[in-house]
Amino acid sequence: MRPFDLTAPATVQAALASPGTFLAGGTTLVDLMKLNVMTPSLVVDINTLPLRGIDASDGLRIGALERMSDIARHPGVYPAISEALLLSASQQLRNMASIGGNLLQRTRCGYFRDVSTPCNKREPGSGCPAISGANRTHAVLGTSDSCVATHASDVAVALVALDAEIRLASAAGTRTVRLADFYRLPGGTPQLENDLQPGELITEVVVPRLDWARRSTYVKVRDRQSYEFAICSAAVALDIRDSRVADARVAVGGVATRPWRLASVEAALRGGPVTPEAFEEAASLAAEGARPLPGNAFKVSLLQRTIVRALLEGSR
Ligand code: SF4
Repeated sequence: MRPFDLTAPATVQAALASPGTFLAGGTTLVDLMKLNVMTPSLVVDINTLPLRGIDASDGLRIGALERMSDIARHPGVYPAISEALLLSASQQLRNMASIGGNLLQRTRCGYFRDVSTPCNKREPGSGCPAISGANRTHAVLGTSDSCVATHASDVAVALVALDAEIRLASAAGTRTVRLADFYRLPGGTPQLENDLQPGELITEVVVPRLDWARRSTYVKVRDRQSYEFAICSAAVALDIRDSRVADARVAVGGVATRPWRLASVEAALRGGPVTPEAFEEAASLAAEGARPLPGNAFKVSLLQRTIVRALLEGSR
């Protein structure tokens, strides 16, 4: 790890005036600093800032520094969000990691984390060894010729399904962005992962009220039962009336370069029956536009089966 300076400002305004890298739970940043993937000269510890609190009185408002474990335990949090949090990382990491930091975590692509290899995301223009190399865990949706890395967050998938927004603050003021619009596709600039501007800080996550999201779930498929990232995941919410799907939300993770909302699957579910056959037909649309690689072609069918399983579990 390279030497760095550390500061701990007492106010949000002072933090926003500090030209460094923000440190919340540290569960991504410290890892990447140890690997020399991120080498900030100034680290700004924001843990004492007043960015906490969970308000479930009308939808959800979650302070950006709330810990994953505290959010998962809160009785007002929609099941898909709680389940996504509880299926993430380990208990120790969930006790440390903040929701704001979770949304900004970097990819788990092994080449990105190994500074002895090229990587367009870490070093723009150096190449993407994953495209012709080890790509079993990589993305099939939203990829480009520059990068095929998946987005690693579980809870971002549930939040995108539920149309969450994030509040951002900077020295210039505040703004609100739909989380689904916040994440960028890699295109030719995979180093730009989201719309966060220099000096901006996530202050709050807001989930609009959606009473029928009480019937929601998150299914995660991974190589081992705990402390592992998703090979494929699905967050679903279903509004079921008179044995038919009145409305639906579906997003997937572990298969795409950003949390991936599936509007075509949602549209196919709307108005249809609550049957395995109808769910399979809708899920068959999920892989539209997929670009599988030799190592991860299995994800195309796994994606569809994961959605069906989530829909069946979510409809009970
Ligand atoms: Fe880097 Fe993306 Fe290629 Fe991984 S997939 S090596 S993160 S450019």
